[in-house]
Amino acid sequence: MNTNYPKSAALFEQAQRVIPGGVNSPVRAFRGVGGTPLFIQSAKGATITDADGRTYIDYVGSWGPMILGHAHDEVIAAIQQAATRGTSYGAPTELEIQLAESVIDAFPSIEKLRLTSSGTEATMSALRVARGFTGRPKIVKFEGCYHGHGDSLLVRAGSGVATLGLPDSPGVLAEVAQNTITVPFNDQAALEQIFDQIGEQIAAVIIEPVVGNMGCVPPAEGYLQAVRRITQKHGAVLIFDEVMTGFRVSFGGAQQLYGIIPDMTCLGKIIGGGLPVGAFGGRREIMDVVAPVGPVYQAGTLSGNPLAVTAGITTLRLLKSLDPYASLKETTHQLLDSMSNELTRAGITTVGNQVGSMFTCFFTSKPVSNWTTAAQSNRELYGRFFHAMLEQGIYLAPSQFEAAFVSIAHTQEIIDRTILAAQNAAKTLALK
Ligand SMILES: *Cc1c(COP(=O)(O)O)cnc(C)c1O
Repeated sequence: MNTNYPKSAALFEQAQRVIPGGVNSPVRAFRGVGGTPLFIQSAKGATITDADGRTYIDYVGSWGPMILGHAHDEVIAAIQQAATRGTSYGAPTELEIQLAESVIDAFPSIEKLRLTSSGTEATMSALRVARGFTGRPKIVKFEGCYHGHGDSLLVRAGSGVATLGLPDSPGVLAEVAQNTITVPFNDQAALEQIFDQIGEQIAAVIIEPVVGNMGCVPPAEGYLQAVRRITQKHGAVLIFDEVMTGFRVSFGGAQQLYGIIPDMTCLGKIIGGGLPVGAFGGRREIMDVVAPVGPVYQAGTLSGNPLAVTAGITTLRLLKSLDPYASLKETTHQLLDSMSNELTRAGITTVGNQVGSMFTCFFTSKPVSNWTTAAQSNRELYGRFFHAMLEQGIYLAPSQFEAAFVSIAHTQEIIDRTILAAQNAAKTLALK
């Protein structure tokens, strides 16, 4: 039993008896860094508190949604109010229109939007729609990009799959996987080549415009423009998976930041304000193939759930009025820069990647621009850094291949404490 975290360790034992690996999503199990996962009791602002009563500064932010910090007063009040009116109706509500309008307002590429309950459902559905719309079978994705756990997308999928070192998942049929073509991220020639070969069979290209799921990897200058040009030329649907980047890297997502108009967009995480919401949307002519207007079936008993949608509407309203993006970017830059400097001073070379309030400190010496270069990182060293930070009350992502997130609740005082912890952690690493 881990004596540092006795209650978490006991709960982990108990959980493993009834839940596979003790967790309901694999990366939570800490396999990427070793040790016992913390069981969380509560969270507020920039911090989370574990079952042993210790409080940590949190850079996971529920893997992205908590851009306003945990348990934001206005979001919680709105959810509480909504709960008194009932938790689910299985019938349309005005709230769903409000959330759809807020999203469409921020994403000019989206004319119509369908809500789901997770990012996975959004990407799965978007692919079905793209195939239904084009009548073509194949999709293209990029090595190290994660789009949820739908069968046809669990091919070279970064994130948890990469952390666990699973090449592909058993249970995904070869017939399904063979319709998924994978090319390296940031490699325009590789994409051109595949389109030159079988462009007429490709229904869609799905991409994380800023990758978060192999750690944070930004697109090279002009790369997204090239992806747009190639897909347009061959009549393939370009799907931006902005489940992580939507309302994160800017209010209008990566497409606003880089000035690209995709055909379809997938959203999740922030649009649910910490409750389960996903969405897919796009051009009207594409979205009108979705049932009941068109023949492509897609549904969900809890889709557009009033509590979840209320959390989303409130979060987007606050983000719009606060417009925290410039300040988040600045805070994140300061943190990553100082963290890297402390490590350098201790003789440890790292590469810091950042877009807005998403960042990863890769334990490698060469620039990280795709999965091959990300995978060269020293995971063992990252694991030691992670635990040295954890001991000082800083909760980083429990894997080298996940982005870290800064929220508006990460004040200067909290950033300063994190930098001090990084200084100590760097010294610990240098000693070994
Ligand atoms: C998190 C994520 C998903 C999956 O969303 P879930 O809600 O976990 O199903 C899909 N795509 C990207 C880019 C993500 O970051």
